[in-house]
Amino acid sequence: MRILVVGGAGYIGSHMVKLLNQRGFEVTVLDNLCNGHRDAVRGARFVLGDLYEREILDQLFEETRFDGVMHFASYIQVGESVREPAKYYRNNVFKTQNLLDAMIAHRVGHFIFSSTAAIFGEPIRIPIDETHPKQPINPYGRGKWMVEQMLEDYDTAYGLKSVCLRYFNAAGADPDGELGERHDPETHLIPLVLQAAAGRRPHITVFGQDYATPDGTCIRDYVHVNDLGEAHLLALQRLWDGGTSAAYNLGNGNGFSVREVIDTARAVTGREIPVEYGERRAGDPARLVADSRQAQTELGWTPHRADLATIIADAWRWELHG
Ligand code: UDP
Repeated sequence: MRILVVGGAGYIGSHMVKLLNQRGFEVTVLDNLCNGHRDAVRGARFVLGDLYEREILDQLFEETRFDGVMHFASYIQVGESVREPAKYYRNNVFKTQNLLDAMIAHRVGHFIFSSTAAIFGEPIRIPIDETHPKQPINPYGRGKWMVEQMLEDYDTAYGLKSVCLRYFNAAGADPDGELGERHDPETHLIPLVLQAAAGRRPHITVFGQDYATPDGTCIRDYVHVNDLGEAHLLALQRLWDGGTSAAYNLGNGNGFSVREVIDTARAVTGREIPVEYGERRAGDPARLVADSRQAQTELGWTPHRADLATIIADAWRWELHG
C-alpha cells in the first residue's frame, strides 16, 4: 500500500511516517520544510514542495497511485492565527482544498485529516464527544472546522471518503528516542517544562492560576503522538474496508492541570523545575477533555501510552538525547 504523508517532516507527521514504515507501507512525504525537519523523515521518499503548487501535486499523483493521503501540514499557533488570519486561512484551508482537488482529479479516494479540539471552542460540557457543538473561537479552529465541512460536501458531491481526527493535546515522543517535538518557537507546555528541567530555560511560566479548576490552572487531555499514529492507521483501514466518512475525538479521557504536568515532570526527571505565574493566555478554555469512546468502539482504538508519566518520560528522553 502506498501512502502520501503531507507534512511528514513535522512533529506528528514524522512519527506517523516511522510507524507506516515499520508496518510495511510505501511512504512518500511531501513537505515544504517551513517548520519540519528533513532529518525527521525516516524510511520514506521525500519530496520538497508546497501544496500551493498544483503542478507538483499533479506530478506526484501521476507518478504514484496512492491508496491514501494523510495531511499533517498546518500552522498550529492559536495566538498567531488571531494576528495573522490570512496566513492561517491560506495555509490551512486554501492549500488543503488544493490538495483535495488534485486528489479528486486523479481519483485518489481516501483522506485522513488532522483536525483539532479547537473546533469546539469554549466547551459547554465535559468530556467532549463528537456531538458537542462546533463553535470555534479563533481562525485556527475555524479553518479546521471549515475543512471538516468541506470534506462532508466533497464526499457528497465527489465521493471522497475521509476521516477527521480531532487531536486534543498531542504530546510525547518516539519511545526509541529517534524523534520528538521540535517546534520553533516552542509553545507547548510539556516540551517547555522539560526544557526548564534540562536548564535550557530559566523557568516555566504558568498561564493563569485563577481558572475554575481544583488548583486554578488549566486542564488538558494529553495524548501520546504514537497513539495518534495508531488511530490514523485504523481510520485508513476503516475507509479501505468500505466504511463511511467519519470524525473522531482523540484523547485519553483524563484531564491534567498545568500544575499536575509540572509535578509529574519533576517526578519523572528528578530535576528542579522553577515556576513563575503569569497572566492567562487569551483563548485558553479552563478545561478540555475528550470523550473518545466512539474512536474506541468504531475504530478499535486503544491508547497504549496513555499514562501521563509515560508521555513525559518519552518526551524527556528526546529532550536529553534528541
Ligand atoms: N501553558 C502554560 N505555560 C506555557 C505553555 C502552556 O501554562 O508556557 C498552558 C496553556 O495555557 C494550556 C496548557 O498549558 O492551558 C497546554 O498548552 P499548550 O500550548 O501545550 O496546548 P493547547 O492546549 O494550547 O493546545
